[in-house]
Amino acid sequence: MKCKKCGSKAVINMRQHKLGLCCDHFLQWFTNQTQRFIKKYKMFEFQDRILLAVSGGKDSLALWDVIHRLGYKADGLYINLGINHDTSYSQRSMEKVKNFAHDQDLKLIIADIEEMEGASIPEAARFTLRGKDKPCSTCGITKRHVMNHIARQGEYDVLATGHNLDDEVAVLFGNTINWQMGYLLRQHPVLESSPKGFIRKVKPFFRFYERETAAYAFLRGIDYIHDECPFAVGAKTIYYKEMLNQMESKRPGLKLNFYLSFLRAKEEGYFAELRAMHAEDFNLCETCGQPTSAPKQCAYCRTWERTRIAKSAIK
Ligand code: SF4
Ligand SMILES: [Zn+2]
Ligand SMILES: [Zn+2]
Repeated sequence: MKCKKCGSKAVINMRQHKLGLCCDHFLQWFTNQTQRFIKKYKMFEFQDRILLAVSGGKDSLALWDVIHRLGYKADGLYINLGINHDTSYSQRSMEKVKNFAHDQDLKLIIADIEEMEGASIPEAARFTLRGKDKPCSTCGITKRHVMNHIARQGEYDVLATGHNLDDEVAVLFGNTINWQMGYLLRQHPVLESSPKGFIRKVKPFFRFYERETAAYAFLRGIDYIHDECPFAVGAKTIYYKEMLNQMESKRPGLKLNFYLSFLRAKEEGYFAELRAMHAEDFNLCETCGQPTSAPKQCAYCRTWERTRIAKSAIK
C-alpha cells in the first residue's frame, strides 16, 4: 500500500476513509484533522484555558501532544485512583504522565484520592459495596466529581478528555440496545457548561478510530501505559468494541457512520421531545456545593462519607 500523498510506503491504511498514508503524512493529517474537529464543533479557542484529563494511556497523552503542538494552552490533570494491588497500575500510569509533562515542560495537576478522602478507589468500593462488585461505579463517580471540581476551582474554560470514536461508539451501542434515554440525550462530543456548575466538556478525538490514536502515539514515540486498568477485564464496553470491530472489518466505516448518524439525528431534532420529558433538575450538594440530581447530598459525598464511617469502624 502506498501513501496517497507522496507514493512512498504507507504505514497505515484507514479503510473507512480509503486513505493510506506514510509516517510524515499521517502525523500531518492527524494533527490537521484534530484542528478541524476542534473548530468544526467549536470546542475551544487559542485563548481558552483547557484542563485535560490524562490517564497515562495513548489517547490522553496523544491529545496533550497534539493540542500543545497546535498552540493551545492545556494543563494536565492526573487522578491517582490508588489501583495498585497486583500490577501497580496507578503508580506506573502516573509515572508515564509525570515523565511526559516534564519532558514537554507542561503543567500537571495531580489529585490523589487517598490523600483527599482517606482511602483508595478499590478500598472505597470494598467498604461501600462489601466486595460484591468492581470499583467502576465508585471510580466513575469520583473521577467525574474531581474533574469538575478542579476545573472550576482552577477557573478553566473547558475540560477535555481523550475519548476516541471506539469509546464513543461502544457507549452509544450499549445505550441504544438498552434504550437508555437519559444517557443518549447526554451523549455528545461537546457538553455545554450548566448554570448550576458543570464545566464545559469536550472530546477532540471523538472522530478518530482507536488504531489511529495508537498509531499517532507510537509514531511520535510517546511513552504510554499499554495495560488497561485491571478492573476493565470483562467490561461490557470491551465486549461491544470487539463486536463492533468485527462488523467494521466487513463494512469499513460502519462505526463512524453509526456515531455521525446519531449526531445528525440529534441536530435534526429527533431527540427534542425526549429532552423535554427527561429534563433534569439539578440541586447543589449541601456538603460540597457541586451540582447533583440528588435532593441533598451528591453521590460522591455520600460514597466517601460511607467509606470513612466503614473504615473507622474496623480500625
Ligand atoms: S476500569 Fe478501572 S479506571 Fe475504569 S472505571 Fe473501572 S476501576 Fe476505574
Ligand atoms: Zn506520504
Ligand atoms: Zn457533594
